[in-house]
Amino acid sequence: MKMKRRLPQTSIEFLDLKVSVVGNSLQTDLHRKSTATNSLLHFSSFHPHHLKNGIPTGQFIRVRRNCSTLGDFRRNAGDLTQRFRDRGYPKKSISRAFQRARDSQRENLLQPKQRTKEPRYGIITTFNNQWNDIRCILNRNWNILLAEPKLGHLISEQPCLIAKRAKNLKDRLVSSHYQKPKRSLMRGIKLTGSHACGECSICPLMRTKKEIVDSTNQKTFKLREFINCKSRNVVYALICPCQKLYVGQTTQELRKRVQQHLSSITNAESHFNQGKVLSTVATHFRRAHAGFYKQR
Ligand SMILES: [Zn+2]
Ligand SMILES: [Zn+2]
Repeated sequence: MKMKRRLPQTSIEFLDLKVSVVGNSLQTDLHRKSTATNSLLHFSSFHPHHLKNGIPTGQFIRVRRNCSTLGDFRRNAGDLTQRFRDRGYPKKSISRAFQRARDSQRENLLQPKQRTKEPRYGIITTFNNQWNDIRCILNRNWNILLAEPKLGHLISEQPCLIAKRAKNLKDRLVSSHYQKPKRSLMRGIKLTGSHACGECSICPLMRTKKEIVDSTNQKTFKLREFINCKSRNVVYALICPCQKLYVGQTTQELRKRVQQHLSSITNAESHFNQGKVLSTVATHFRRAHAGFYKQR
């Protein structure tokens, strides 16, 4: 890598600006690195029309703002025009943008823009082929909603259409093993603890808890992850109605494991009579609770 240090006496470049000392004052000009490429969005790119037409306007205004003199502006504008032509922009849209910038008062352009703080409502969708049709339908028919007696006073001015970028070729062709973490509806609030899944037979037995206290009431274990009936690879605690605690682990879904416990309790007596070895949980229920479990 080559590093270059330049310390000129009368001018200095900073970002896209070249500041020079002329007489007793400072003058600014547009600065482009010699290695800069034409990175303007191509006109054939799949973007809303108003966005592509807005780019020349914004760029010419920027050049006008950065150049102290009209001569510098014209020189840089010529270069910019060529770059827009190379990227397929129509002459009309380029010359309109050029004229607008040329006729602007530079002093006004240097003032920070006052933004209105009124909330604007927008419909946000991915940009698509029907974009203009949707916009036309909205323009044509919004007044129907406004004229509606019950609805009219509840809705405000027509919402603007906001385009999200559609998938491009890179998105479609190149896949990454890295999965971007999905933004949850909880907006950064991580749901932890044990919860019923809401759709299985052991839900009524599932306790919503953030921590487990051991049977001697001395140690508290915080549940740092989110667990429900369908979680796998968990360490779980069965709390008996007599407050005894059984701690187990499973690689299966928790509900499957709990169902096995329940059936071992139900069949405890007959298994015992057949001389089979009973599980700890089944043995406890057989001895202490006559083989029944009650749903709390
Ligand atoms: Zn469940
Ligand atoms: Zn018990």
